[in-house]
Amino acid sequence: MPSIRTNLTKLNQKAPVILAIESSCDDTAAAVLKNDTILANITSTQTIHEQYGGVVPELASRAHQQSIVPVVDAALRQAQIQLSDIDAIAYTRGPGLMGSLVVGTSFAKALSLALKKPLIDVHHMHGHILAHFINEGQAIPSFPFICLTVSGGHTQLVVVHSPTNLEIKGSTIDDAAGEAFDKIAKIIGLPYPGGPLVDKLAQKGNPDAFAFSKPQVVGYDFSFSGLKTSVLYFLQKQTAVDPDFVEKNKADICASVQRTILDILFKKLELLVKDTGIKDIAIAGGVSANTGLRQRLMDTGNKKGWNVFIPKFAYCTDNAAMIAMAGKFLYDAGIFGNQSQGAEARLPFLRSWNQ
Ligand code: ADP
Ligand code: MG
Repeated sequence: MPSIRTNLTKLNQKAPVILAIESSCDDTAAAVLKNDTILANITSTQTIHEQYGGVVPELASRAHQQSIVPVVDAALRQAQIQLSDIDAIAYTRGPGLMGSLVVGTSFAKALSLALKKPLIDVHHMHGHILAHFINEGQAIPSFPFICLTVSGGHTQLVVVHSPTNLEIKGSTIDDAAGEAFDKIAKIIGLPYPGGPLVDKLAQKGNPDAFAFSKPQVVGYDFSFSGLKTSVLYFLQKQTAVDPDFVEKNKADICASVQRTILDILFKKLELLVKDTGIKDIAIAGGVSANTGLRQRLMDTGNKKGWNVFIPKFAYCTDNAAMIAMAGKFLYDAGIFGNQSQGAEARLPFLRSWNQ
């Protein structure tokens, strides 16, 4: 079977130019894609939230309003195109913060009306998964492949049968993996978002220093809220004896927490691989930036004969390039959005293109 990339290259001559907009949380982003190649990828990260220890929705929404025009403008300039060169406008319809999504959604809908070009509504996690197909000369997964999607809001095991046929096999029943990193980081006294800081400290710590409880959840589902409680009780007990316990053991605590999160993820990933026989394994989402997760996927892949696909760092965090890539696949499939669709904070994953 010819690869997706061969098909895309054949289409190159009349490749559509897609402008994509992503504003689901605290990054205002725009990208331009032609075929499977990114011509521009601009992200404006909001720094105002740092002083509040988390994203403040109202401030995020206002910052998106200020940034969206300059960000889109910068993307057009970087791609060296005019508005009239755009063939379709893709945007993140959800999930995310309502006030943030509304800015990107309204902008995309208005531009679509003004330019008389089709709208493509994209699910944020669909974008994270299909980012693997952005052509930067790297190997791409063959269908069907398994994608472990791990972010601040999602933890899922997805079998990707095709770019528009995705089957969720397992999900978290409580907190997402990124949420677990962030909440436990907060208990340890690290600033928001704690995930990257836990990662950094874990590199200097002993992952076997402390043992935390692991969930007993059936099938391919995950649970992380028990781990958070286990860490909290453990630290309360230790600091009662030694008030400086956390300070003295920060790296070991982070390494042990990270190892436990990875154990929880890999137990279910390995089970799904065993049950399906699929050997192409990808990771996606913010937590796929985690050094330990990337290393463990490579090590497990080597041991078990998997082909592993790890996104480059720029496509782990929120970006519009991935929304453009997902938009391109939907465009090819003839799946478009319309003006009556609004932003949806809790957009269901598999129904984003047929509602
Ligand atoms: P969402 O789009 O669901 O809000 P993102 O895809 O933006 O989530 O990912 C953000 C999450 O990823 C946060 O929870 C953050 O702590 C986590 N994260 C980012 N980098 C790392 C890392 N290196 N290690 C662990 N977690 C990380
Ligand atoms: Mg994300």
